[in-house]
Amino acid sequence: MVDLVPAEYTVYAPSVTTAGNATVALVRGPEGKLLWLSQPLPGFRGQALPAGGVVCPLSSENAQALGCVFPWLFPRRLPDRPSFGFGDRLGLATPGHIRACTRTRVFPILAQQSVRENARTGRTFEEVLASAIFGAFQEGYSGGFGADADHVKTIEDALHAADLGFTLFTCDPSDHIAAMGPLPSTEVARRFRIMPEAPAWRKEYLNREFDLNGWDKIRFTEEGLAYTAVKYGAAVRFASAMDQALRGRCPAGFDFELSVDETATPTGPLEHLFLAHELRRHDVALTGLAPRFPGAMEKGVDWRGDLVGFREGVRVHVAIARTFGPYRLSLHSGSDKFSLYPILAEEAGDLWHVKTAGTSYLVALEVAARHAPALFREITQLSLARFPEDRKTYHLSADPKRIRNLETITDQELPRLLANGDTRQVLHVAYGSVLRSDLGEDLRAILDAHEEVYHGALAQHLGRHLAHLGATDDG
Ligand SMILES: [Zn+2]
Repeated sequence: MVDLVPAEYTVYAPSVTTAGNATVALVRGPEGKLLWLSQPLPGFRGQALPAGGVVCPLSSENAQALGCVFPWLFPRRLPDRPSFGFGDRLGLATPGHIRACTRTRVFPILAQQSVRENARTGRTFEEVLASAIFGAFQEGYSGGFGADADHVKTIEDALHAADLGFTLFTCDPSDHIAAMGPLPSTEVARRFRIMPEAPAWRKEYLNREFDLNGWDKIRFTEEGLAYTAVKYGAAVRFASAMDQALRGRCPAGFDFELSVDETATPTGPLEHLFLAHELRRHDVALTGLAPRFPGAMEKGVDWRGDLVGFREGVRVHVAIARTFGPYRLSLHSGSDKFSLYPILAEEAGDLWHVKTAGTSYLVALEVAARHAPALFREITQLSLARFPEDRKTYHLSADPKRIRNLETITDQELPRLLANGDTRQVLHVAYGSVLRSDLGEDLRAILDAHEEVYHGALAQHLGRHLAHLGATDDG
């Protein structure tokens, strides 16, 4: 049937799929990528060709129509095995992400962007999901994937993503977590006393021991309880309200993760236990929890800190997650944390989830460094200029002064800049500024022109992440 595709279009062979009497394929023509249908199908919007068949733009509407014809292209819930978030800020990476995870045990989350990322890149949940659906179709992938509405801070955003078909909701209650700073203990005690739940919490938490599956026992003191409840009381109410709202909107069920990884201090055992126990009392079934880990969890570079301490921290978090779930321990800002992956996988068994996004953007820039050096120089200049502003919402140790002057670097040396932690962080945090500028379009054009190179590089780099997690068949 694909021999009916007009000669000016090239067919992506793995995408060719039949639906009844019709054939559907992803094709590339003079105007870019399109869907080709051998005959009109319900729900698709496109243009009839004189030679027969229909071509349709890669719109959100047509992505939804494609999912209705081929249901394996719609997001689904997490199965009982480890999962990995392949965030894609450009909307072009999915085929590379699929190649990275075939022949591994991980369940891929192919659509994963946070509300903040979308605000910075100017994209929407609709577009993020459509890119994942078309990417999976291009690869002929039918193994299933999830869609994560990441770091949602309002119930409205969560419900919007639910209506589009997202299956995983990462609730970010940051706006409801009290800033404790150097609050005196008398003030903490006063705030605790006036909380309506205080008497019930006292009864629930004091004078008892929480047994973490035989691994350890945890006791709350009055002060410990007051501090934890004041800090997280409103966050629990918010998470529970979001969960409740989603239940009304997702009759087939959904996955719910709580993220407290962007707090000022590492999440201690009392804090994690309180959140887990309270959410269970509110009938919230967690799929995962992302604590703030100790040490320097910086973007796009490996972790710096005490690995023995990290392992101990993971052990406590896993014990709590097993006791009150079981649910996954979720590692956010998970790009390039090669020294942590083996520890996470060893301690958590199959109960882990890792989120990445920035590293796929850096792979894209590496392709630009090799194939469009002038563009890469412009992107680096803009990122350096934007750094004082763009770094504000991140924990970073990068010092732009340590980056070599671009004028002294030959084109051949440019890709090596990506091996340097300072450069990686400066480039990483400026993604919004770059992608919203004209350079964003130029970068997309280069990646499109070199898509095999880009997807191959992604498969290799993200594949290395999965190998360190012990998730490959031979690992
Ligand atoms: Zn996070």
